[in-house]
Amino acid sequence: MRVHFIGANSGNVTGSRYLIEVNGKKLLLDCGIYHGKRKETYEKNKNIPFDPKDIDYLILTHAHIDHSGNIPNLVHNGFRGKIFSTFATRDLCYHMLRDSAYIQEREIEYVNKKRAKNDQNPFEPLYTLEDAEQSLLFFMSINYDTPFEIAPGITMTFRDAGHILGSATLTLDIEEDGVKKTLAYTGDLGRKGLPILKDPVQIEKADFLITESTYGDRFHESIYNTEPELEKVVKDVCAKGGKLIIPAFSLERTQEVIYFLHVLWNSNKVPKIPIFVDSPLAGNVTEVFKQHPECFDNDTREEFINNAVNPFGFNDLKYTKSVEESKALNTFKGPCVIISAAGMCEHGRILHHLKNNVEDHKNTILVVGYMAKDTLGRKIVEKQEVIKIFGEPYRLKADVKVMDNFSGHADKADLLDFIDHIKDLKKIYLVHGELEQQEPFKEALNANGKEDVSIPEFGDVVEL
Ligand SMILES: [Zn+2]
Ligand SMILES: [Zn+2]
Repeated sequence: MRVHFIGANSGNVTGSRYLIEVNGKKLLLDCGIYHGKRKETYEKNKNIPFDPKDIDYLILTHAHIDHSGNIPNLVHNGFRGKIFSTFATRDLCYHMLRDSAYIQEREIEYVNKKRAKNDQNPFEPLYTLEDAEQSLLFFMSINYDTPFEIAPGITMTFRDAGHILGSATLTLDIEEDGVKKTLAYTGDLGRKGLPILKDPVQIEKADFLITESTYGDRFHESIYNTEPELEKVVKDVCAKGGKLIIPAFSLERTQEVIYFLHVLWNSNKVPKIPIFVDSPLAGNVTEVFKQHPECFDNDTREEFINNAVNPFGFNDLKYTKSVEESKALNTFKGPCVIISAAGMCEHGRILHHLKNNVEDHKNTILVVGYMAKDTLGRKIVEKQEVIKIFGEPYRLKADVKVMDNFSGHADKADLLDFIDHIKDLKKIYLVHGELEQQEPFKEALNANGKEDVSIPEFGDVVEL
């Protein structure tokens, strides 16, 4: 069995993608896009370092774009194999991939306008809506905890990763030339106690592990402090009479933020100011959540099914769909909460809300998710004095609050514990992390008695 590290390697967190050659078959684990500097990521996303026609199967761990977002490009370039995912992941991808195609088409339009002015050839979008819709034809859904033989000697099993709706870890039980071995891949590993979702399910046994390491050297704030901290942020913004702007990914983080606001509003702990979810995608994704109560934890199922309460849409919350409704928020007077995509502030309606609100000290920007290097979101977290939005400079005067309680990723303690409970582990590969997180994490694993730990670089190939 041969593994090619051709994705979230060399210090990258985004762009997850690994190629496995075994028993004469070629499998891809995830096929995500890179986020970051536009030109650089365009090239990285466009150029696929293998022939997509040769890939037999793609196993998709979850619907986040940094894991699924390059599938339409793969299909555009000839991939005709099967895509295995959970049911919820497939349903989420319907919205996520189409939305991503829309973004790709708009972004390239913008770039091409500039190029036309300089008499340069136009660029192609990474992929189109048609490619995204075509991709959906190749999906095959598989339940959690259900081993499935995809080819002779290759059996896959999904387990709940507890990261986002439908997310899964993967184990591949391989029998190659009469020898049995198990390769496990965490995808993105979640945390215990996250709202809505079930806790991650332990992988019991594997010989080799490819693990994410996003927070390999960090400990998160407890999820149980989320409510009181959010309460304080909302009260502060009400006292200032400003707006609370929350950049959040439409998938999962938005629903979690809504869930916590719902709890605060219901317990009358904060003034019930209006909440706007300004993202058409978030509205669509929330509908998918409602169709998959099998993925909910007991509390959410209890609310949703037994008490018939919808924790994703309560009275003081409004989903804005049209551009007109979105624009109307610019002139909205008085305190309110605006939750808008995209999460890392690279594109989408959040840019308009930031543009209109960052220069007023009455407002607060609440960061609730991971911000990759070189994104506008990261610059806001770093509280840079001047930030560029749509190419124009703006002074960052609004308060910036960062709450990492919401993180959907395992932290150092969670990762060490998870890995410690995998029996027979011989080799560990760290992916999906910046080097500052990975190196100390490797040392921590070594100190825990895991001797064979490596941090592959992009393009590395290993024989297992
Ligand atoms: Zn993810
Ligand atoms: Zn990820």
